[in-house]
Amino acid sequence: MHDFRYIGGRLYCEQVPVETLVRKHGTPLYVYSQATLTEHFKRLDAALDPLPHSICFAVKSNSNLAVLRTMANLGSGFDIVSEGELRRVIAAGGDPRTCVFAGVGKSEDEISFALSRDIYCFNVESEPELERIDRIAARLRKKAPIAVRVNPNIDALTHAKITTGTYENKFGIAFERVEQVYVRASRLKHLRLRGVQMHIGSQLTEVKPFEQAVAKVAPLAARLGRRFGLEFFSLGGGLGIVYRPALDSGDASWWTSRAARNILTPESYAAAVLPHLRSLDLRILIEPGRFVSGNAGLLISRIEYIKQTGRKTFVIVDAAMNDLIRPAFYDSFHEILPVHQHNGPLVPSDVVGPICESGDCFCKDRPLPRLKAGESLAIFSAGAYGFVMASNYNSRGLAAEIMVHGRRAAVVNRRQKLSEIWEREQIPAWLKKR
Ligand SMILES: *Cc1c(COP(=O)(O)O)cnc(C)c1O
Repeated sequence: MHDFRYIGGRLYCEQVPVETLVRKHGTPLYVYSQATLTEHFKRLDAALDPLPHSICFAVKSNSNLAVLRTMANLGSGFDIVSEGELRRVIAAGGDPRTCVFAGVGKSEDEISFALSRDIYCFNVESEPELERIDRIAARLRKKAPIAVRVNPNIDALTHAKITTGTYENKFGIAFERVEQVYVRASRLKHLRLRGVQMHIGSQLTEVKPFEQAVAKVAPLAARLGRRFGLEFFSLGGGLGIVYRPALDSGDASWWTSRAARNILTPESYAAAVLPHLRSLDLRILIEPGRFVSGNAGLLISRIEYIKQTGRKTFVIVDAAMNDLIRPAFYDSFHEILPVHQHNGPLVPSDVVGPICESGDCFCKDRPLPRLKAGESLAIFSAGAYGFVMASNYNSRGLAAEIMVHGRRAAVVNRRQKLSEIWEREQIPAWLKKR
């Protein structure tokens, strides 16, 4: 489900016409629908209702403070991967005690800070990390809550850059070694064994790999749970979203059409994993990022030029790979539709940005209406791994972000001024101006 639709030929986010946002705030512009964020969270929450559970929103997918506040108000916890993300959660009014801290490279400072804020759990990815956390906890006279991330060696069948659950990846501790690691951890005096965790990858659109991984790890979780008095089993995130087509939506048929196409829904996910978890006497955690935020965001861009070269049509827009890197980085598909609906014939078009790289391309040979310079385009499903991965490449300022709620819209991140790009830079004294 999402709350972007054409009404009378104009694209709306909830009850706000996107063109009014463009006129007021310029482009490139990220636009988030609060109702869509909320709907996705609630849908997942309801599907997991049969078991005691918590949802920890993966901050790395969209870390805007307004998005985090929306999540906190819904009762979400947070999956964080850095001190910066924990500080963001706190800045947004979230509770550190609902945070789980993931990642293979937690630094001493990050661990100290997270311990001092009493986070819910460190999801530990190696034995040296266990020892480091124990040492720091001793220094702070604390007991650090930990879970070990199990690598179940299950192929998530997704893009190689976002597969994390096989022994080819840097993540977690091999399934076969996990129990010995818990035994070791139980001898470290400043650790409290709180749970067990896994995460096999991102953008999984089938339930099968989830089911395989849960079926494999659940008996281990049960055994560890009894032996070490654990409290939770985290299944990680990774629930995929529909990137194409983006607009068969706006009503309940969105979910039915997903089910019909055999694409994972909260209900099919729950139906696959819950039977393996019922007898576990452990709280179930999940850490969705993309599933909650992905379809809740658009990137709006203005057409600067239409360039015809031989047989090709290039639509040159003012957004670029520095604003949304997913097509260049993951070869990902994003639906692209004009903010003003067209009815004419479609022509194969490449939508490209102004950056001096051939990879700066949002789509190739995509059937699009005959567009004109000055029109605005909406790039769909840009709410996850969009703005958070933006950079200043080509000294382009970061886009503005807008949150829509019903008829209301607010700037939740103002457009970066160009001078802000280099304000932290300095020229050494010896480099005198000639
Ligand atoms: C990235 C990540 C997530 C979220 O992944 P999504 O695909 O956005 O749901 C959850 N848990 C961990 C440990 C992660 O690294």
